[in-house]
Amino acid sequence: MITVTLDLTCSICGHQQFHLPIKAEEGANVCCANCSAFKCKALDLERALTAMRRSSDNRQPAAA
Ligand SMILES: [Zn+2]
Repeated sequence: MITVTLDLTCSICGHQQFHLPIKAEEGANVCCANCSAFKCKALDLERALTAMRRSSDNRQPAAA
């Protein structure tokens, strides 16, 4: 498991840090690092991370 801060909010406690599974045997569940509530499945997370990556691209300065 790794702990990361995501652009997601725990529906139970509002925390933004989540434990992510990094091995297959850890399953696909992402859970809140604060209250351990299951937040979402890795599939949803992948979507969230893709959206994050896209939005961080947009944050790059336009001056080149
Ligand atoms: Zn929580």
